[in-house]
Amino acid sequence: MAIKVIEEKCVGCAKCQKSCPFDAITIEDKIAVIGDACTNCGTCVEVCPTDAIIQEGTEKVVKDLSMYKGVWVFAEQREGKIMPVVFELLGEGKKLAAEIGTELCAILCGSNVAGLADELFAYGAEKVYLADAPELEKYTTDGYSKVINEAIGKYKPEIVLYGATHIGRDLAPCLAVKVNTGLTADCTKLEIDPDDKKIRQTRPAFGGNLMATIVCPGSRPQMSTVRPGVMDKAVYDPTPKGEIIKLDAVFAEGDIRTKVLEIVKTTTENISISDADFIVAGGMGLGKPEGFELLKQLADKLGGTVATSRACVDAGWADHAIQVGQTGTTVKPTIYFACGISGAIQHIAGMQDSDIIIAINKNENAPIFEVADYGIVGDLYKVIPAIIEELNK
Ligand SMILES: Cc1cc2nc3c(=O)[nH]c(=O)nc-3n(C[C@H](O)[C@H](O)[C@H](O)COP(=O)(O)OP(=O)(O)OC[C@H]3O[C@@H](n4cnc5c(N)ncnc54)[C@H](O)[C@@H]3O)c2cc1C
Ligand code: SF4
Ligand code: SF4
Repeated sequence: MAIKVIEEKCVGCAKCQKSCPFDAITIEDKIAVIGDACTNCGTCVEVCPTDAIIQEGTEKVVKDLSMYKGVWVFAEQREGKIMPVVFELLGEGKKLAAEIGTELCAILCGSNVAGLADELFAYGAEKVYLADAPELEKYTTDGYSKVINEAIGKYKPEIVLYGATHIGRDLAPCLAVKVNTGLTADCTKLEIDPDDKKIRQTRPAFGGNLMATIVCPGSRPQMSTVRPGVMDKAVYDPTPKGEIIKLDAVFAEGDIRTKVLEIVKTTTENISISDADFIVAGGMGLGKPEGFELLKQLADKLGGTVATSRACVDAGWADHAIQVGQTGTTVKPTIYFACGISGAIQHIAGMQDSDIIIAINKNENAPIFEVADYGIVGDLYKVIPAIIEELNK
């Protein structure tokens, strides 16, 4: 151990314990004791008021990475229903696991959720780590991070993937700090480096102006949140069965500090654009924010929802939650109407995998027509009412 406590000088003030980023220090019989989690970072040496801590050498402690195995997918469920992004993560996780020659596992937390394991097996998980307890019925950062942190400590996965949903974005950084490892947020591409088998995690940075590829060389597990809608879903096969491994989910008083009072759902009027089958998207060609009312009429007819381009968001005409594109949401609906949208590459990046794209634009040279399956050259204020009229017949 390169960090030592001179017991005669230690007064047990616990300043070092509070300063240690890795929770490596305990106070036993009023003396600081350095544990195995110490990385020799030197932080505690600076804070000790009695110079009781000495650092011999500055080499960082190198972790033995060979014991970390398996690709884990956080199987986010809400009210007993698995979130769609989990099937995308299982699809991607399977490829990664095959490339490094390891197994694909899911980690499932909730109350009375054991029945969901079959669905995870059907989408490719070979093992499901299950934490089933009443305290986990509703998501809390404390509850979920406690059980997953313990599971990571015990079973040592090599890679852990989370959907970049509101829950995934909350949980993953909390766990990364607890586990003391690296996390790349909102990845759009994952691949295994053929030379060293580490995962290369690519994400848009600086508002999408730069694609950054990030690796996590010295810590495990390698963790990523992955943007929903970007990866392909795993193939469903109901026959496979796997192993369920039950996790301890025991909570003491005060372990979960958050109390969920109420969960308020948005009305069906606001269908999330990532779940919608029909999207009617409008761009600057609307000319004015009131134009969205016309788009909504068409979306309502189809049971779909309205989306937009970034230019309209920047103009204050629409909320970022409905922005499609590289710096917005990626969507794959059955039909995507692009109305008065020029088809900039950053917009196309978020909708090009839609099953059918119908473009309505005044300018026949607009790049949107290059990706459109059907194109209508004309004024959207004439074309859309005509479509609605036909649908009414
Ligand atoms: C780093 C970066 C990230 C970006 N991320 C995104 C992103 O995530 N999503 C995104 O959308 N953009 C993004 N952009 C912006 C993008 O480059 C375009 O500026 C934007 O998509 C243009 O929006 P638009 O098509 O609505 O507007 P415009 O480009 O102004 O196009 C308006 C279109 O409407 C047509 N039109 C006009 N009047 C009518 C009418 N009456 N009827 C029919 N058609 C009409 C015009 O012919 C024109 O083609 C990003 C840009 C950068 C630099
Ligand atoms: S800060 Fe120094 S004196 Fe205080 S507990 Fe730690 S080692 Fe002991
Ligand atoms: S050197 Fe760093 S990791 Fe080790 S006990 Fe001190 S503060 Fe913690």
